[in-house]
Amino acid sequence: AKPVVAIVGRPNVGKSTLFNKLIGQRLSIVDDTPGVTRDRIYGDCEWEGRKFSLVDTGGIEPSASDVILSQMRAQAQLAIDAADVIVLVTDIRSGLVATDADIAAMLLKSGRPVILCVNKCDSVGEPPADFYEFYNLGLGDPVQVSSVHGHGTGDLLDRVVEYL
Ligand code: GDP
Ligand code: MG
Repeated sequence: AKPVVAIVGRPNVGKSTLFNKLIGQRLSIVDDTPGVTRDRIYGDCEWEGRKFSLVDTGGIEPSASDVILSQMRAQAQLAIDAADVIVLVTDIRSGLVATDADIAAMLLKSGRPVILCVNKCDSVGEPPADFYEFYNLGLGDPVQVSSVHGHGTGDLLDRVVEYL
């Protein structure tokens, strides 16, 4: 079977936008409403001759008790359990928030390789000052990406296929 790469993170950080950019089609629902992706969505990807299946997930709010949010978390946990590599998406516009750290802790428990993506870095060049705080998640070097423009997605895929 093809290896599976799961895209996870809290709502509204740009997971579905990244998913769509990576598979080159608008299959996933992108919306300004946090948590609009309710179901896992799969797509085929190939990079440097390596084929894998990419999975978009709804957002994770680790401490939310709301029914929909807890269902989304359960779905994301299933995707994490089935994944060979996990891409944790965060958002430079909001900066590092406590939920990112909670999710990072969940992912470290999974024992899977995790690549940290700092999304919405829309201007090319030197990373913004706030970029460096993402090192505090303890997931190694973050990759700066703009899912809207596509900047950094090649670097991200290079990091993903290292584990395939
Ligand atoms: P999800 O909930 O994590 O799947 O987030 P979405 O992909 O639905 O995106 C949430 C919002 O962030 C949408 O308005 C997107 O257009 C916006 N967005 C996603 N990626 C980027 C990016 O790289 N730059 C900017 N400026 N906005 C982005
Ligand atoms: Mg989504």
